[in-house]
Amino acid sequence: MIIILLGPPGAGKGTQCERLVERYSIIQLSTGDMLRAAVNAGTEMGKMAKAVMDQGDLVSDDIVVGIIADRIAEPDCKNGFILDGFPRTVAQAEALDKMLAEKGLGLDCVILMEVDEAVLFERIEKRAAETGGARSDDNAETLKKRLVVYREQTAPIIPYYREKGALKTVDGMQGIDTVTKSLYAILD
Ligand code: AMP
Repeated sequence: MIIILLGPPGAGKGTQCERLVERYSIIQLSTGDMLRAAVNAGTEMGKMAKAVMDQGDLVSDDIVVGIIADRIAEPDCKNGFILDGFPRTVAQAEALDKMLAEKGLGLDCVILMEVDEAVLFERIEKRAAETGGARSDDNAETLKKRLVVYREQTAPIIPYYREKGALKTVDGMQGIDTVTKSLYAILD
């Protein structure tokens, strides 16, 4: 099973991914987590990525597409995976289609988690408090920029997948468990 979980920052993708991973025995591939690991490891790529991430901007398509291409070639991806935070541009979506086709694979489903912007601010502020500010991009200022980037660069992948007939939508404003049930209803 290959799934994309799509939605604005703070929609709850990471939280729901953890549950889907368990239920469907697939793995979560979060480009945000992978980039943060590179930042923490202090690699050259990590140093470059940190500056961009702290601005709320997107890391270049070449870098993230390369990261995902390498990652899905690993043996633990053979049961399937959930992409969390990738693709974030139409170019990334096209690159993903191409790399899956080359492996004879295809997407099973793209699920959009819809959440009002006012709620996203509340959630990000809560996450910043709960994690003791572990993520330097979890603040109102950077979130504003991340939402602009989402609207301008990521939202165009919604019609991209809708036209392919792959898109499903869940109301991400519901409680966490209700959202999980809606996801199971789509994927079971
Ligand atoms: P996330 O953890 O998904 O919210 O991602 C945190 C930050 O990492 C984003 O604001 C971007 O700067 C960067 N990032 C994560 N995934 C991608 C991606 N697919 N393309 C470009 N930048 C990304």
